[in-house]
Amino acid sequence: MFHAPDISFYIISLGCSKNLVDSERVNGEMRAVGFRPAESPEDADILIINTYGFIEDAKKESIEAILDAAELKAGVRPGFGRKLVAAGCLSQRYRRDVASDIPEIDFVYGIIDDGFVPGLCAAFGVEPATAVGGHVRKLPLIEGLPYRYIKIAEGCSNNCSYCAIPLIRGPLVSFPPERVLEDAKAAAAGGAMELIIIAQDIASYRHGRTGLAGLVNAVSVLNGVEWIRLLYCHPDHMDRSIIDLIRGNDRIVKYIDIPFQHASRSVLSSMGRKGDVASYLALVEELRSRVEGIRIRSTFMVGYPGESDRDFDELLEFVEKAALDRVGAFIYSPEEGTRAAGTGPRVVPAVARRRHARLMKLQRGISAKSMERLVGRTLRVLVEERIDEHTWAGRTEYDAPEVDGIFYLTGGNVSINSIVKARVTDSTEYDASGVLA
Ligand code: SF4
Repeated sequence: MFHAPDISFYIISLGCSKNLVDSERVNGEMRAVGFRPAESPEDADILIINTYGFIEDAKKESIEAILDAAELKAGVRPGFGRKLVAAGCLSQRYRRDVASDIPEIDFVYGIIDDGFVPGLCAAFGVEPATAVGGHVRKLPLIEGLPYRYIKIAEGCSNNCSYCAIPLIRGPLVSFPPERVLEDAKAAAAGGAMELIIIAQDIASYRHGRTGLAGLVNAVSVLNGVEWIRLLYCHPDHMDRSIIDLIRGNDRIVKYIDIPFQHASRSVLSSMGRKGDVASYLALVEELRSRVEGIRIRSTFMVGYPGESDRDFDELLEFVEKAALDRVGAFIYSPEEGTRAAGTGPRVVPAVARRRHARLMKLQRGISAKSMERLVGRTLRVLVEERIDEHTWAGRTEYDAPEVDGIFYLTGGNVSINSIVKARVTDSTEYDASGVLA
């Protein structure tokens, strides 16, 4: 039998912010039962890869990460040796294949849940220093960041035809408000000034009588929380209560991520979504008229099976008229087990690529104009990094970490992880710069 305090671990977290929160949970639980965090993968006795695998590129990246980690097992020391663990979306979806195709893996687990740490201890003959169980505090993989993701639900019940996530993570389960508040309180106490509310679709959150607005309003009164950011609201579930929540609460940044995915009624209907150009434009208009200065991010998919030239033109029309501030786009890829994978006809790959390029070209001009409108304004900037003697990098409230732009700040001394006011003097398509106000 081995003892947890004698054994170190390192987590490699792949994919999205939802997976990162699962990795933070593992980090908290492993440390709570006595395992020691290692400085690097090379130093770790247990290497945990939290994989993702809902699209083809994600699967490839996850497999490469496992194979890279497997190389570290060569020439391992005697005794406990070095153990390799694969968990998360990829191993949930392809558990048998992962185990049989990569024999270097010592423990395969699916989506992180209550059974992960006890299962790992049992598999490796490790005695925990304290009892396993209960809701343990999540711990960040990188210390000192001014923001943390707060996951409020698992799974998704929207069942969009192209999406493997409901197959992997199951139907929507909203977490109890007290559990979300506990996570938020711990994140704020740990120095996070910005809490980012996430789930596959936060607009669908409901636990008993508590909906998204009640939950987020409760989080917003916690000490130390300056900004709350709402990510991933399915457009068909956006209602007045969510718009009023953003409008009425000063701590909620005036920014929202609504993945529209498309605008053509026939494509959206085939996807299992309800909108069209008119209804989605009306939603954008309502948001802008009720929440002054709000900036909207979205994601679109091109090349969905059966997407005609006319459907694509409708999408371009929507993108042009909606003039969203930030847009990401990707090309459809069939995922086994999803309804869309059996739907035809497929769009020729070269056509899909051309559509993607046209959409992004159109959006580049729109994004650049949207950024230009910030020039001359004074904005709050969360300072995150010192670039050189005179320059700091940070984000305005209109930029989410990891996906949006950077604000370059000059004109005085500022502290990392503080919010300052800055006057915007210049902008590019994604980034802006300015001076301390
Ligand atoms: S809402 Fe998002 S996560 Fe849920 S099924 Fe649709 S695309 Fe997938």
